[in-house]
Amino acid sequence: MRVFVNDKAVEVPRGARVRDAVAQADDGLARLLDGAAYVTDAAGRTIDAGDAVGEAGSVYRVVVSARGGREGKPRLTKDVLRRWPKAELHVHLDGALRPATMLDLARLQGIRLPADTPDALAKAMLVRDAKNLEEYLQKYEITLSVLQTAAALERVAYEFVIDKAAENLRYVEVRYSPLLHRPALTLAQAIEAPLAGIRRASAETGTKVGLIVCAMRTKPPAESLELARVAAEYHAAGVTAFDWPVPSADFRRRSIARRSSTRRRTAWPAPAMPVRETAPTRSIRRSTTLAPSGSGTGRGSRKMPHFSRK
Ligand SMILES: [Zn+2]
Repeated sequence: MRVFVNDKAVEVPRGARVRDAVAQADDGLARLLDGAAYVTDAAGRTIDAGDAVGEAGSVYRVVVSARGGREGKPRLTKDVLRRWPKAELHVHLDGALRPATMLDLARLQGIRLPADTPDALAKAMLVRDAKNLEEYLQKYEITLSVLQTAAALERVAYEFVIDKAAENLRYVEVRYSPLLHRPALTLAQAIEAPLAGIRRASAETGTKVGLIVCAMRTKPPAESLELARVAAEYHAAGVTAFDWPVPSADFRRRSIARRSSTRRRTAWPAPAMPVRETAPTRSIRRSTTLAPSGSGTGRGSRKMPHFSRK
């Protein structure tokens, strides 16, 4: 007979247990029933996975929870999660600074920040109720203000990898735009600096890191082209991908891509998928449909064919 597990229809023999139905729908999910997951009926009442399934058409939901379901005992604790080996594919370098480092860099460069202790600064940088992406991005102006030297970029990239390794991240892809470090740095300098920090931290920790160079939808397309050319030269040195968000409409990017010979001359397999990051839902759906290797906040990015190099 047919029952439903998380909206998926499965066929189970009469007398089968709820656990069997879950396994039919998703084997991995069924394994979680011994610790991190529990089952509810359609009304949200917790039921025992060992119970027999009810009548045909019964609806079951499997909930994965850090609280461990019936007994309410936390099984999937933060500590456990920290120890699991993990990969993270979408982090912004200029959004991942240690507050103490920000203060340090600001002091060295004579820059004023919104607060002068690490705790207060962390609080000041927290975005609680941004009305849109643009408003959220305003915080980046503050982090970027202390990242206009090669030494600062290298240090922040180094510390970023050290911190991620401490969370047992085994592989991480970190993104940023060298265009936001001009005119203080050349594009080459703005790419070499974080690469140097990453290389050092990678060697110390064993965490593998891919650097994703992002074009900016707010900058003229010519700058993106220029950036793509420079970034391609650092492919072997650790630049994993080039992310090209769309300025406003798809056709604009397509016409640039068609006109340019950058793609042919370099190792990029394709320009990034046309995705508008300011139109979240539809963009994410399209991004995941069009570019399976893309990840995160509605952006698509295409991987270069090989990522190697420690
Ligand atoms: Zn993002």
